[in-house]
Amino acid sequence: MTNSPLPRTILFDLYGTLVPGGSRLQRDALAFEMAEVLDVDRIKFADIVRSTFDARVRGSMGGLSETISELARRVGGCPTSQQVALAAEQRLTFSRKLLSDAYSAPHLFNLKSRDYQLGIVTDCSAETPLSWTSTWLKDVVDVVAFSCELGIRKPHPEMYLAATRRLNVQPEECLFIGDGDSDELHGANALGMSTKMLVDPNLLDIDRRDTASKWDGAVINSLADLLNDSFQ
Ligand SMILES: [Mg+2]
Repeated sequence: MTNSPLPRTILFDLYGTLVPGGSRLQRDALAFEMAEVLDVDRIKFADIVRSTFDARVRGSMGGLSETISELARRVGGCPTSQQVALAAEQRLTFSRKLLSDAYSAPHLFNLKSRDYQLGIVTDCSAETPLSWTSTWLKDVVDVVAFSCELGIRKPHPEMYLAATRRLNVQPEECLFIGDGDSDELHGANALGMSTKMLVDPNLLDIDRRDTASKWDGAVINSLADLLNDSFQ
Protein backbone atom coordinates (compact mmCIF):
# COMPACT_ATOMS: atom_id res chain seq x y z
CA MET A 1 0.00 0.00 0.00
CA THR A 2 1.29 3.46 -0.86
CA ASN A 3 0.95 6.05 1.86
CA SER A 4 0.38 9.65 0.91
CA PRO A 5 2.96 12.01 2.37
CA LEU A 6 2.07 14.06 5.41
CA PRO A 7 1.26 17.71 4.78
CA ARG A 8 4.24 19.84 5.82
CA THR A 9 2.14 21.76 8.33
CA ILE A 10 0.38 19.90 11.11
CA LEU A 11 -2.02 21.58 13.52
CA PHE A 12 -2.96 19.83 16.73
CA ASP A 13 -5.68 20.16 19.28
CA LEU A 14 -4.07 20.31 22.74
CA TYR A 15 -6.09 18.65 25.51
CA GLY A 16 -6.81 14.97 24.92
CA THR A 17 -4.55 15.10 21.84
CA LEU A 18 -1.07 16.18 22.94
CA VAL A 19 -1.58 16.26 26.71
CA PRO A 20 -4.26 14.99 29.10
CA GLY A 21 -7.20 17.28 29.74
CA GLY A 22 -7.70 16.29 33.35
CA SER A 23 -10.63 14.22 34.58
CA ARG A 24 -13.79 15.60 36.16
CA LEU A 25 -12.54 14.20 39.47
CA GLN A 26 -9.21 16.02 39.17
CA ARG A 27 -10.89 19.27 38.16
CA ASP A 28 -13.37 19.13 41.02
CA ALA A 29 -10.54 18.40 43.47
CA LEU A 30 -8.75 21.51 42.19
CA ALA A 31 -11.93 23.59 42.54
CA PHE A 32 -12.34 22.36 46.12
CA GLU A 33 -8.76 23.40 46.96
CA MET A 34 -9.28 26.82 45.40
CA ALA A 35 -12.59 27.26 47.24
CA GLU A 36 -10.87 26.61 50.54
CA VAL A 37 -8.29 29.30 49.85
CA LEU A 38 -11.01 31.69 48.63
CA ASP A 39 -13.23 30.92 51.63
CA VAL A 40 -16.28 30.03 49.55
CA ASP A 41 -18.55 26.99 49.42
CA ARG A 42 -16.63 24.28 47.61
CA ILE A 43 -19.63 22.60 45.95
CA LYS A 44 -20.98 25.89 44.65
CA PHE A 45 -17.54 26.92 43.49
CA ALA A 46 -16.96 23.67 41.57
CA ASP A 47 -20.40 24.12 39.99
CA ILE A 48 -19.71 27.70 38.90
CA VAL A 49 -16.34 26.68 37.45
CA ARG A 50 -18.04 24.03 35.33
CA SER A 51 -20.99 26.17 34.26
CA THR A 52 -18.77 29.05 33.10
CA PHE A 53 -16.63 26.86 30.84
CA ASP A 54 -17.85 28.50 27.63
CA ALA A 55 -17.35 32.05 28.93
CA ARG A 56 -13.91 31.22 30.29
CA VAL A 57 -12.61 29.65 27.08
CA ARG A 58 -13.94 32.61 25.10
CA GLY A 59 -11.92 34.86 27.38
CA SER A 60 -14.99 36.87 28.30
CA MET A 61 -14.27 36.72 32.03
CA GLY A 62 -10.86 38.37 31.64
CA GLY A 63 -7.49 37.13 32.84
CA LEU A 64 -6.87 34.44 35.43
CA SER A 65 -7.10 36.64 38.56
CA GLU A 66 -10.13 38.52 37.26
CA THR A 67 -11.83 35.23 36.47
CA ILE A 68 -11.15 33.76 39.89
CA SER A 69 -12.38 36.91 41.63
CA GLU A 70 -15.57 36.91 39.58
CA LEU A 71 -16.21 33.19 40.16
CA ALA A 72 -15.80 33.67 43.92
CA ARG A 73 -18.07 36.71 43.86
CA ARG A 74 -20.78 34.77 42.04
CA VAL A 75 -20.94 32.24 44.87
CA GLY A 76 -21.07 34.92 47.55
CA GLY A 77 -17.36 35.36 48.26
CA CYS A 78 -15.25 38.47 48.55
CA PRO A 79 -11.64 37.27 48.44
CA THR A 80 -8.62 39.45 49.06
CA SER A 81 -6.05 39.88 46.33
CA GLN A 82 -3.76 37.59 48.32
CA GLN A 83 -6.39 34.84 48.39
CA VAL A 84 -6.94 35.27 44.64
CA ALA A 85 -3.19 35.05 44.02
CA LEU A 86 -2.97 31.81 46.00
CA ALA A 87 -5.92 30.30 44.12
CA ALA A 88 -4.40 31.41 40.81
CA GLU A 89 -1.16 29.65 41.70
CA GLN A 90 -3.12 26.47 42.47
CA ARG A 91 -4.76 26.71 39.05
CA LEU A 92 -1.45 27.37 37.30
CA THR A 93 0.23 24.46 39.07
CA PHE A 94 -2.55 22.15 37.86
CA SER A 95 -2.26 23.50 34.32
CA ARG A 96 1.53 23.20 34.23
CA LYS A 97 1.27 19.59 35.38
CA LEU A 98 -1.10 18.69 32.54
CA LEU A 99 0.96 20.55 29.95
CA SER A 100 4.23 19.04 31.19
CA ASP A 101 3.04 15.50 30.42
CA ALA A 102 5.68 14.44 27.89
CA TYR A 103 3.93 11.37 26.49
CA SER A 104 3.57 13.01 23.06
CA ALA A 105 6.87 14.85 23.08
CA PRO A 106 9.01 12.28 21.20
CA HIS A 107 6.59 12.24 18.28
CA LEU A 108 6.48 16.00 17.96
CA PHE A 109 10.24 16.36 18.25
CA ASN A 110 10.55 13.68 15.57
CA LEU A 111 8.34 15.72 13.25
CA LYS A 112 10.19 18.89 14.16
CA SER A 113 13.51 17.29 13.28
CA ARG A 114 12.06 16.56 9.83
CA ASP A 115 11.22 20.25 9.36
CA TYR A 116 7.47 20.01 9.71
CA GLN A 117 5.71 23.17 10.88
CA LEU A 118 3.70 22.42 14.01
CA GLY A 119 0.88 24.39 15.58
CA ILE A 120 -1.67 24.15 18.38
CA VAL A 121 -5.29 25.22 17.95
CA THR A 122 -7.08 24.86 21.24
CA ASP A 123 -10.10 25.91 23.24
CA CYS A 124 -8.67 26.90 26.61
CA SER A 125 -9.07 29.34 29.47
CA ALA A 126 -6.63 31.93 30.79
CA GLU A 127 -4.19 29.62 32.56
CA THR A 128 -3.05 27.82 29.39
CA PRO A 129 -1.38 30.86 27.74
CA LEU A 130 0.30 31.54 31.08
CA SER A 131 1.57 27.97 31.51
CA TRP A 132 2.55 26.42 28.21
CA THR A 133 5.81 28.32 27.73
CA SER A 134 7.25 26.65 30.82
CA THR A 135 6.81 23.20 29.25
CA TRP A 136 8.34 21.12 26.44
CA LEU A 137 5.69 22.43 24.05
CA LYS A 138 7.49 25.76 23.77
CA ASP A 139 10.51 24.05 22.16
CA VAL A 140 8.60 22.25 19.44
CA VAL A 141 5.53 24.31 18.50
CA ASP A 142 5.79 27.07 15.89
CA VAL A 143 2.42 28.74 16.48
CA VAL A 144 -0.49 28.66 18.91
CA ALA A 145 -4.10 29.75 18.56
CA PHE A 146 -5.75 30.02 21.98
CA SER A 147 -9.52 30.55 22.13
CA CYS A 148 -9.39 32.73 25.24
CA GLU A 149 -7.05 35.13 23.45
CA LEU A 150 -9.00 35.14 20.19
CA GLY A 151 -12.45 35.41 21.81
CA ILE A 152 -13.86 32.54 19.74
CA ARG A 153 -14.00 28.74 19.97
CA LYS A 154 -13.59 25.87 17.57
CA PRO A 155 -15.09 25.11 15.13
CA HIS A 156 -15.05 28.83 14.22
CA PRO A 157 -12.89 29.18 11.08
CA GLU A 158 -10.85 32.01 12.58
CA MET A 159 -9.45 29.64 15.20
CA TYR A 160 -7.67 27.67 12.46
CA LEU A 161 -6.97 30.64 10.20
CA ALA A 162 -5.21 32.47 13.04
CA ALA A 163 -2.64 29.65 12.93
CA THR A 164 -2.39 29.27 9.15
CA ARG A 165 -1.92 33.01 8.64
CA ARG A 166 0.93 33.11 11.12
CA LEU A 167 2.55 30.15 9.39
CA ASN A 168 1.92 31.65 5.94
CA VAL A 169 0.21 28.52 4.63
CA GLN A 170 -3.21 27.81 3.13
CA PRO A 171 -5.63 25.59 5.08
CA GLU A 172 -5.54 23.05 2.23
CA GLU A 173 -1.84 22.56 2.93
CA CYS A 174 -2.45 21.50 6.54
CA LEU A 175 -3.27 18.37 8.48
CA PHE A 176 -5.38 18.84 11.62
CA ILE A 177 -5.29 16.19 14.35
CA GLY A 178 -7.58 16.19 17.37
CA ASP A 179 -9.58 14.00 19.70
CA GLY A 180 -12.73 15.52 18.22
CA ASP A 181 -14.18 17.69 20.97
CA SER A 182 -15.71 21.06 20.05
CA ASP A 183 -16.61 19.67 16.61
CA GLU A 184 -13.03 20.57 15.76
CA LEU A 185 -12.57 17.96 13.03
CA HIS A 186 -15.54 19.13 10.98
CA GLY A 187 -14.38 22.71 11.45
CA ALA A 188 -10.94 21.89 10.06
CA ASN A 189 -12.42 19.78 7.28
CA ALA A 190 -14.72 22.61 6.20
CA LEU A 191 -11.66 24.76 5.53
CA GLY A 192 -10.14 22.08 3.31
CA MET A 193 -7.66 20.70 5.82
CA SER A 194 -6.81 17.03 5.91
CA THR A 195 -8.12 15.72 9.22
CA LYS A 196 -7.47 12.75 11.48
CA MET A 197 -9.13 11.93 14.77
CA LEU A 198 -6.69 10.78 17.44
CA VAL A 199 -8.17 8.29 19.86
CA ASP A 200 -5.29 7.46 22.18
CA PRO A 201 -6.32 5.70 25.40
CA ASN A 202 -3.24 7.12 27.13
CA LEU A 203 -4.55 10.66 26.74
CA LEU A 204 -8.32 10.34 26.93
CA ASP A 205 -9.95 10.66 30.31
CA ILE A 206 -12.62 8.16 31.17
CA ASP A 207 -15.23 10.86 31.46
CA ARG A 208 -14.46 12.30 28.04
CA ARG A 209 -17.46 12.89 25.86
CA ASP A 210 -18.03 10.22 23.22
CA THR A 211 -17.23 12.00 20.00
CA ALA A 212 -15.90 9.06 18.01
CA SER A 213 -19.36 8.09 16.83
CA LYS A 214 -19.80 11.53 15.26
CA TRP A 215 -16.75 11.24 13.02
CA ASP A 216 -16.55 8.96 10.01
CA GLY A 217 -13.19 10.19 8.73
CA ALA A 218 -9.69 8.92 9.34
CA VAL A 219 -8.81 7.75 12.86
CA ILE A 220 -5.42 7.01 14.41
CA ASN A 221 -4.79 5.54 17.85
CA SER A 222 -1.37 7.03 18.45
CA LEU A 223 0.82 9.75 17.00
CA ALA A 224 3.31 6.93 16.48
CA ASP A 225 0.88 5.44 13.95
CA LEU A 226 0.87 8.69 12.04
CA LEU A 227 4.64 8.69 11.76
CA ASN A 228 4.94 4.98 11.02
CA ASP A 229 2.36 5.18 8.23
CA SER A 230 4.11 8.05 6.54
CA PHE A 231 7.77 7.18 6.95
CA GLN A 232 7.82 3.42 6.45
MG1 LIG B 1 -9.33 17.92 22.88
